[in-house]
Amino acid sequence: MSSVDAARRYFDTAADHLQLAPDVRTLLLTPEREVKVQIAVPLDSGQIGTFIGYRIQHDCARGPFKGGLRYHPEVDADEVLTLAQLMTWKTAVLDLPYGGAKGGISVDTKTLSLRELEAVTRVFVDKIHDMIGPDLDIPAPDMGTNAQVMAWFFNQYGKHHGYSPACVTGKPLELHGSQGREEATGRGVMIVTRELLTQVGRDLKGTTIALQGFGNVGSFAGRFFHEAGAKVVAVSDVAGGLFNPQGLDIPQLLTHQASNRGITGFPGARAISNDELLSLNVDVLVPAALGNVLTKSNAAEVQAKFIVEAANGPTHPDADELFQKKGIIVVPDILANAGGVTVSYFEWVQNRQQYDWDLDEIRGKLERRMSRAFDAVWRLSVDQKLPMRTAAYILGIDRVNKATKLAGLL
Ligand code: NAD
Repeated sequence: MSSVDAARRYFDTAADHLQLAPDVRTLLLTPEREVKVQIAVPLDSGQIGTFIGYRIQHDCARGPFKGGLRYHPEVDADEVLTLAQLMTWKTAVLDLPYGGAKGGISVDTKTLSLRELEAVTRVFVDKIHDMIGPDLDIPAPDMGTNAQVMAWFFNQYGKHHGYSPACVTGKPLELHGSQGREEATGRGVMIVTRELLTQVGRDLKGTTIALQGFGNVGSFAGRFFHEAGAKVVAVSDVAGGLFNPQGLDIPQLLTHQASNRGITGFPGARAISNDELLSLNVDVLVPAALGNVLTKSNAAEVQAKFIVEAANGPTHPDADELFQKKGIIVVPDILANAGGVTVSYFEWVQNRQQYDWDLDEIRGKLERRMSRAFDAVWRLSVDQKLPMRTAAYILGIDRVNKATKLAGLL
């Protein structure tokens, strides 16, 4: 099953509850525009590197297209379309004035020098700049991209359209970025986990957590869990995982990661595989790396009571069904990892006002938005006895559907 088919299953479950007609489903699922470009750059070796880039604009009924840029060898049209659709429902669940888009380049950034990475980014911007803009489509970081990549994007876009900081978010603070953007997705993951635990009469303090992925999202989530008194007993990155049943010292692990370019070899923890991490006996499992890591073949081994989807699309629908049967509560990606796009929205607002907010203000605003969205999804899920994922999809799809109707498209 492709990622598009898997996402379709989640969509259809919610669309059935909303009793959407087949033509409406087709309209809501069909992307507005799909662009695939060639990116050719001279490599340091003297050869020419050729890469494929994508930008897919899914829906703009509620506002300009919004969505990240992923640099990863597995990026393809299917994956980008799936992620673009997720963005449409996500911005709607958070009630942000945006639609959904996604982009990316099929490239292994580890094989590129900094100069080559910059060249790839600038050529990509040259190829797609006419479909980007503050009122049109606003990219942001995702896997394999960061504030530096957004800075190059902003600069290259300016060569075509003039000074326009609101054309991209996730920029460095020195170049019109926002306080709290880098930490935002991880912080949002902590907020929804805390809200969930509160609803079931528990507390983050002492809760055991396993985190797959220790990049931007995973490392900030780990830091905030640790600060809140949770026991992060396991983390992993692409090279493997670490386990300590007493809880890992996250600040020390972050220092180790910074000086060793990875978490491997951290003292005071046992090495485990990524597969082992997923089946640990913990309270909360947080996949924060790739999509489709929880599948039919490993779902039965999952022992966590709660799964908080920090990554996009980590759970295959077959695994999701099994989790429902086992009574595992899943906080879906379109809610759990929405902290990033929420602070991206704050960055865009600040850029447009040419006025900046301090970190406390950003954190307070994020806290309110995330808790409000969590409450809305939780209430719908309890009232209608639905999994949180179905409730979140119902909320998001209904808002997009209503906006589409009000605009006169339906
Ligand atoms: P990142 O590139 O900063 O980090 C990715 C992490 O995953 C790294 O620790 C990497 O080593 C690890 N990883 C890669 N392949 C792995 C594998 N096969 N097994 C285990 N770990 C592996 O990316 P990120 O920005 O932290 O994004 C992580 C996830 O969160 C993605 O699914 C992304 O779409 C989602 N997300 C990110 C943001 C954001 O603001 N960055 C927002 C919403 C959702």
